[in-house]
Amino acid sequence: MTAPSFDKLSIRYKLVVLLGLSLGLGLFVSSLVALYSTFAAERQSSLRALHQIAAITSENMRAALAFHDAQSAGKMLAPLHTNPHIRYAFVEDEHGQLLGQYLAPAMPVPDATAWRARLQPHLGPQDGVRDGMERAHHHVLYPIDLDGKRIGTLALLADNEAMYAKMRQFVLLQGYASVLILASLLLLSWRLQLIFTRPILQLLASMRRIGRSKDYTAVLATQRTDEFGELYRGFNAMLQEIRQRDEQLSRLATTDTLTGLANRGHALEALQAMATRTQRRREPLGVILLDVDHFKQINDSHGHSAGDQVLRDIARILQTCIRAYDLAARYGGEEFLLLCDGADLATTAAMAERVRASIASHRFRLADGRALQVTVSLGVHVGNAGTGSAMQLIEAADHALYRAKQAGRNCMESA
Ligand code: GH3
Ligand code: MG
Ligand code: MG
Repeated sequence: MTAPSFDKLSIRYKLVVLLGLSLGLGLFVSSLVALYSTFAAERQSSLRALHQIAAITSENMRAALAFHDAQSAGKMLAPLHTNPHIRYAFVEDEHGQLLGQYLAPAMPVPDATAWRARLQPHLGPQDGVRDGMERAHHHVLYPIDLDGKRIGTLALLADNEAMYAKMRQFVLLQGYASVLILASLLLLSWRLQLIFTRPILQLLASMRRIGRSKDYTAVLATQRTDEFGELYRGFNAMLQEIRQRDEQLSRLATTDTLTGLANRGHALEALQAMATRTQRRREPLGVILLDVDHFKQINDSHGHSAGDQVLRDIARILQTCIRAYDLAARYGGEEFLLLCDGADLATTAAMAERVRASIASHRFRLADGRALQVTVSLGVHVGNAGTGSAMQLIEAADHALYRAKQAGRNCMESA
């Protein structure tokens, strides 16, 4: 598998591969260790068994050697045929002279001679037992003493067939066990990867869903206390921040900063929506355009900030006069717009009059403590099923407002 195609794999399969590989490697190493230790144990036990046979045989051989009786020595070796793994045995006197030998049926004589030369059986008077293990055979050279004097050496050579048969059996069993363990490890890898990938994939799915729906109110629930829990909580905190900024942005985009009322753009949008709805339902729509009388003078006599204060106070009064489903907006410098949803001319005119009277009777307090009298002129227009766009409604109200100014101000006219 090349690195780029591994990169393309889902995190789920990456983890399965990595976990499977590391668990599989662990299994392989432990199998090797088990194989080696079994081999070492089998090797030891094969040599130990040959040692025991050599000990018994040399015990029986002592008298034959003492009397240099080759015939008896040969007879003592004959019972070795009961052990099919002993291929070759011989006994020599202390001078290295062959006294008797045993050959398994399959052992040809030249082979026996070669083995004898190879084993160098002659043990010196001080030598102890010697043994060795080769690929196919193992052997023991056993000294035979009498009254503390070396009188000969017994050599036994056995094949490793028994050991290899046991090893084959072990490898087979280990193979079966490995297949079972590997299957379990794969299952385990799958379960383990779920611990890590499930929260990540859930987070990813939520992120995609929120990306599509733009619904930033969604909150991801989690009871986790680990780093994933922290990730979820961080994600939720980010969503909340986006939500708050969204609200702040839309507030900024739709609100007039001085008065807190809807701004001109928002008011026009709202008017268009209201007009469409009321026309469809064949309901009236009251529009009031309000302009502060001689506002320039207020600015000139009391300063611009006093003018601002008056605009803020008027905005507050407007909000107390309208109904919950009406909209008050700052339309321009010192002009305000009131939209009265479903209001006919009588209702709209009454509301305009209420606004005019409230403002006229209000004592506007300036920062320096002085009080001020302010009046407003209002133009009223009521749209109906036949009315056109939002701008046409406003133009009609503006026309009425113009007439109110002409009529001497601090009054209301309708068109
Ligand atoms: P009229 O009775 O005919 O309406 O007279 P007016 O003085 O109110 O009308 P005009 O249009 O001559 O003056 C409006 C003034 O409103 C001019 C402008 O400087 C002032 N103005 C506009 N926006 C603001 C504002 O945000 N704050 C303050 N303090 N003054 C503003
Ligand atoms: Mg004006
Ligand atoms: Mg004015």
